[in-house]
Amino acid sequence: MSEQELRIDGATRIYGILGHPVRSSLSPAMHNAAFRALGINAAYVPFPVSPEHFPEVVRALLLAGVSGFNLTVPHKIAILPLLADITPEARAIGAVNTVRCENGSMAATNTDAEGFRLSLERDLAWQPAGKRVLLLGAGGAARAIAFSLLQAGLGELGIANRTPARAEALAADCRLAQAGAKGPAQPGTTVGALELGATAGWAPDLLVNATSVGMGDGKNPVELVGLKVREAVLDIVYTPAETPLLAEAARLGLARANGLGMLLYQGSLAFRFWTGQEAPLAVMRAALEGGLEARKG
Ligand code: NAP
Repeated sequence: MSEQELRIDGATRIYGILGHPVRSSLSPAMHNAAFRALGINAAYVPFPVSPEHFPEVVRALLLAGVSGFNLTVPHKIAILPLLADITPEARAIGAVNTVRCENGSMAATNTDAEGFRLSLERDLAWQPAGKRVLLLGAGGAARAIAFSLLQAGLGELGIANRTPARAEALAADCRLAQAGAKGPAQPGTTVGALELGATAGWAPDLLVNATSVGMGDGKNPVELVGLKVREAVLDIVYTPAETPLLAEAARLGLARANGLGMLLYQGSLAFRFWTGQEAPLAVMRAALEGGLEARKG
């Protein structure tokens, strides 16, 4: 099969993404480009699935012989009760973004945490060991990021969220994981929740935005100048490519990256989980960038 050709026949394996909404996902472009580049007879499609129909759709996909799928908002946690086979990391995080289907059963993992770690390392060349990080958000993505940072031996993690109870719950889960009760996190990171409006002067080495603020709303989740970030900002939002937060980081001369790298790396890890093959990173990156460019037009 050529890189351009999409062929569907009786042996085509079907993968997809379940979300609500799912229309703006760049994952179909990324994975279909990867399948074509490696000559794999597979196709990746979007499945818009409302929360009330989620369990029956998952069972139907399994019965229909789908080979695997990704999960995005709001299904990453809702899938948990339907799973028997789940990696220890995904269990500790409490969220799943990748499922492989084989002979009517599902194996699940979370590639967001490792995708975030790879983005930190490759896009920012930033090492968490001993450092101080402020994480904005307490949803599915923030959970994966918090656990990734704990495993990397962070010094201190502050979690701030619009709904303070969710930040407190995530901080408590992180402390439990560190105590060895829930997962493989290393000991030694101080974890606390703080009010979103009380972050001024916190002076983190790295700020991570894992809220959806900045995604086309022209807003900043937090006021960067007052926060006194020392080194870098990673905004996991990637539309627009330069969020208001990243524009402010640029003005302040801070190292910065958007969420495209995390999206790419979590996708490459999902690709390997499904196919057993190394993902063609350059092809996948080009497909993501092409998808973003097409949105501008
Ligand atoms: P989620 O579970 O729905 O969590 C959303 C988070 O954003 C919550 O912390 C929520 O706070 C906060 N939030 C939403 N609207 C807000 C507002 N107006 N003001 C302040 N906080 C607000 O979603 P998620 O899966 O964690 O995803 C969060 C963002 O990360 C999305 O933009 C998503 O596209 C992006 N993402 C990127 C990648 C990547 O690979 N780059 C991967 C996953 C997610 P409350 O708890 O108060 O509701």
